[in-house]
Amino acid sequence: MSFDAVIDVQHVSKSFGGLKAVQDCSIKVARGSITGLIGPNGAGKSTLFNLVAGNIVPDSGAVIFDGRDVTGMKPHELFHLGMLRTFQIAHEFSNMTAIENLMVVPPGQPGESLLKTWIAPGAVRAADQAVRQKASDVIDFLKLGHVKHELAGNLSGGQKKLLELGRTMMVDAKVVLLDEVAAGVNRTLLQDLAANIERMNSELGYTFFVIEHDMDLIGRLCDPVIVMAQGEKIAEGPMAEIRANPEIIEAYFGAPVEAD
Ligand code: ADP
Ligand code: MG
Repeated sequence: MSFDAVIDVQHVSKSFGGLKAVQDCSIKVARGSITGLIGPNGAGKSTLFNLVAGNIVPDSGAVIFDGRDVTGMKPHELFHLGMLRTFQIAHEFSNMTAIENLMVVPPGQPGESLLKTWIAPGAVRAADQAVRQKASDVIDFLKLGHVKHELAGNLSGGQKKLLELGRTMMVDAKVVLLDEVAAGVNRTLLQDLAANIERMNSELGYTFFVIEHDMDLIGRLCDPVIVMAQGEKIAEGPMAEIRANPEIIEAYFGAPVEAD
């Protein structure tokens, strides 16, 4: 099978003390897909995400990102390679407007270097202008124009999530990791969020890897869906197939899931 994997996790394991949080787990995320990751509380989903995003180094196994072995790389190195995780809007950014929150994302803006300002002020102004334009485009794409100059701290929970998503659009991301993006978002804004993820995927070519407890959202957005339990991948397929598998339903959806 020819499969263009942007993320290729190979036989990764991670223990905390005696507890095997992730065990010999192999998963792939196809370029251009919105791949879902579900499973009961404690299944190892967040640990797997942290292994992929460089927050945790695996005990064994490898993480291949865009054809390159990135095992053990730090999150900021992966960020520069185009692997992005949504960031919560930090408290220190709540006093900045929506558009300013987007404008501070790109790393190494020329305007940050005083020396460059002195040597090439024109280039700095042009770069600042390009960043402002890009931020403005992202605001428009997300249909947040009406709150463009509103302080981020005054936005609703759902609008903050949209802004969070927008921050990933300020750099050229190959893949965006979303951990529980729907948590605390009301139904209406959840539809907006889902629609924006779909448009980023279909119109802009973003690949998404999504952990989510909201099964309706997973069903709407994700194909395939990977199911984890006790540190291992136990199933993978379209949500309709996963939902129709009585063993999975019985064992993994029968129990209530937490919102962590
Ligand atoms: P999920 O996200 O699917 O709910 P986690 O990856 O958070 O699962 O957790 C998997 C298992 O690893 C759980 O038993 C959890 O208690 C344990 N675990 C996760 N992170 C740590 C940690 N930093 N230290 C110790 N145990 C951990
Ligand atoms: Mg988790």
